[in-house]
Amino acid sequence: MIPPTLLDTTPVNLNLPKTSHKQNVIKVTSDAANADVKFADWENFKFAPIRESTVSRAMTRRYFADLDKFTESDVVIIGAGSAGLSAAYVLAKNRPELKIAIIEASVSPGGGCWLGGQLFSAMVLRKPAHLFLDELDIEYDDEGDYVVVKHAALFMSTLMSKVLQFPNVKLFNATAVEDLITRRDETTGELRIAGVVTNWTLVALNHDTQSCMDPNTINCNVVLSTTGHDGPFGAFSAKRLEELGKAPKDVTQGFRPQEQQAAPTSSTPRADGFQLGGMRGLDMNKAEDAIVKGTREVVPGLVIAGMELAEVDGSNRMGPTFGAMALSGVKAAESVLNAFDLRKKQNETCYGSK
Ligand SMILES: Cc1cc2nc3c(=O)[nH]c(=O)nc-3n(C[C@H](O)[C@H](O)[C@H](O)COP(=O)(O)OP(=O)(O)OC[C@H]3O[C@@H](n4cnc5c(N)ncnc54)[C@H](O)[C@@H]3O)c2cc1C
Repeated sequence: MIPPTLLDTTPVNLNLPKTSHKQNVIKVTSDAANADVKFADWENFKFAPIRESTVSRAMTRRYFADLDKFTESDVVIIGAGSAGLSAAYVLAKNRPELKIAIIEASVSPGGGCWLGGQLFSAMVLRKPAHLFLDELDIEYDDEGDYVVVKHAALFMSTLMSKVLQFPNVKLFNATAVEDLITRRDETTGELRIAGVVTNWTLVALNHDTQSCMDPNTINCNVVLSTTGHDGPFGAFSAKRLEELGKAPKDVTQGFRPQEQQAAPTSSTPRADGFQLGGMRGLDMNKAEDAIVKGTREVVPGLVIAGMELAEVDGSNRMGPTFGAMALSGVKAAESVLNAFDLRKKQNETCYGSK
């Protein structure tokens, strides 16, 4: 398919002058008594004119310009749930020069964070996660050891609106990560993650019905995976790592049999031969600390955070308490930044810079 933008030879100008249409004054407040409320002169109201193709070009030019720009990203975040978006916020705020692409399989970003437990509204966060709410300027009821936001959607929509306003962040939703780009370090034999393989989610869901629907790729220096716990899409990178570890083993190429591997710790990245721990039963006190403390670069170039980490480490599920998701995102941003320069250098040494 030829992208429509390629048919248009005029240069992309995303800074078009804004036209003002003063005849359409719309106020959304009124001092008048109820019966006389009038927010605009609706009789003479008219939208500014437009040609349909202009609408089409306004979208496609920007989308393809973004695809072109972010095909070489600095950081790719897989999954726009609470952990991924919290990390994106901290990363974008600290490093405005980094290009951060967020890939979200669903049409609607936000993951499982639009409701509290059992589809109730309120969202509980144990202290000190309220400090992140303060950072985002989100109101809550202080209940002592924990705080309550009146609706989980208030947390998610505020976080998302702040993340999307950063100029260095692009969210590609309705797009699924189908695989990870790998690099084998020729001297150490170490497997490194150096990007993602993407496709429209609707295509990813139809590989069984149509053949040869090839994906697209994004190169980057660090991937942060926050795809949530196991489900139709969840725990994606963790499951893929396990599959990679099951590839024909050749110790000289860096694959090490499971039994030869030391038990992972939060400070030592795990290598090939990776095995999923699987999520354990619910224990709020253990689970939240374990997720935040365990958030790390799990293999070179891949940081895992949020509930996906419970699948990696075999830690407990936590149920409807969300502080660990936000603070795991904060720690993930720290891990990404600490790994970034080294992984960038390794990638450039391997195949040259972009
Ligand atoms: C039905 C349900 C069950 C829950 N069960 C638990 C539980 O057992 N334990 C618990 O602690 N909390 C649970 N929660 C609470 C809460 O949803 C999660 O703790 C929290 O949302 C996890 O945050 P996260 O950011 O890690 O992942 P999520 O909020 O799940 O976000 C992950 C995001 O990644 C996206 N994604 C996944 N795979 C891909 C891919 N390949 N490419 C691109 N995007 C991808 C998903 O679409 C999603 O938007 C549950 C919530 C719901 C609605």
